[in-house]
Amino acid sequence: MNATPAHDAIDWDRLRADFPLLRRKVHGKPLIYFDSANTGQKPECVIAATDDFYRRHNANVSRAVHALGSEATEAYEGARRKLAAFLHVRADELVLCSGTTFALNLVAYSWALPRLQAGDAILVTRMEHHANIVPWQLIAQRTGATIKVAELLPDGRLDLPALYAAMTPEVKLLAVAHVSNVLGTLNPVAEICREAARRGITTVVDGSQAVPHMPVDIAAIGCDFYAFTGHKLCGPTGTGGLWAKREHLQAMPPFLGGGEMIKEVRFDGTAFNDPPHKFEAGTPNIAGFVGLGAAVDYLSGIGMAAIHAREADLLAHASEELRKIDGLRIFGNAPDKAAVISFTIDGVHSHDLATLLDLEGVAVRSGQHCAHPLLQWLGVGTTCRASLAFYNTHAEVDAFVAALRKVVRLLA
Ligand code: PLP
Repeated sequence: MNATPAHDAIDWDRLRADFPLLRRKVHGKPLIYFDSANTGQKPECVIAATDDFYRRHNANVSRAVHALGSEATEAYEGARRKLAAFLHVRADELVLCSGTTFALNLVAYSWALPRLQAGDAILVTRMEHHANIVPWQLIAQRTGATIKVAELLPDGRLDLPALYAAMTPEVKLLAVAHVSNVLGTLNPVAEICREAARRGITTVVDGSQAVPHMPVDIAAIGCDFYAFTGHKLCGPTGTGGLWAKREHLQAMPPFLGGGEMIKEVRFDGTAFNDPPHKFEAGTPNIAGFVGLGAAVDYLSGIGMAAIHAREADLLAHASEELRKIDGLRIFGNAPDKAAVISFTIDGVHSHDLATLLDLEGVAVRSGQHCAHPLLQWLGVGTTCRASLAFYNTHAEVDAFVAALRKVVRLLA
């Protein structure tokens, strides 16, 4: 994607200064944080909003009539409204929860478990994160359904004709990542969901790696369920959400029982609250969602299209420089990809690379990235993964590449 004028006009260095952690040193070197696909850093406004909640408004939600109780409820519901507007959905269709893992398990246990049976199939893609594989395996074990796998093309794109051919009548559910956390591939989820809907297949999109990096319009995607996580979105850990079509939320039984999710409890039967509250048992991460609301305001102020363009620019620069290193292999070369670069270097173990890079102040992830089936298909035990965000700089990319060259010389 080319840089937009809006992207060129933004002072990215000034925005970077909003992130206090990025000013620290690691092992005496300026930190180069290239692990944003793992978790994102937090701007001052998010930290301040969370701090302010605990200092001035802390109370439980939806329970107390006192002033603090109303303020806390308004702050929490305000965050839901902000997130809903950010993702182009209705607030009453957005379940707030601890993140993608919870959201996908909610769909698994509340939607899939009561519906699937022996003879049914769940279709997942080769590039899914374990969070979008293991819950479906657990449901398959309980129901007798089977798991089908949609394979990839060598460049890391989904093989779409094969995917559509795999959408056979026994497939009841399709689970697909919007963006791969290993390959960076941006999947054409609107087209995929349209094809699935034509065949009566319910669709679950894992938006963990898309929502922080590009404009996402869930309504335009046309899926049945969309899961995301707040800590990759400049928000606090333990926050995230599940958007679902209202008809699903109405029909699904509660996943967890407890306070908040009921209208009336009697020993001879309990009346549940309306969605989305029906799925929000217990005290939520109120301060976390206040912080996530501030994150959404912050990102909206910059503009997600500008963020996408900025990250595409950083990705192009980093990919070009990395390709000049002898023996370096990049996994995932789809034309549409997010700023995630998984790579290996011949003869060098990824953990050794990451450990020595850390001593140079560079934080990258090494390992299997919660995607064992994908790594098995790639034929490598582990990779290093550099994942960038808009707060990174071209100078950091150059310093990372220089550090990598140094480390490779040491390990050779
Ligand atoms: N799906 C993808 C594609 C991810 O990258 C991640 C996190 O790395 C998850 C799901 C799980 O997210 P969380 O651990 O926040 O629930």
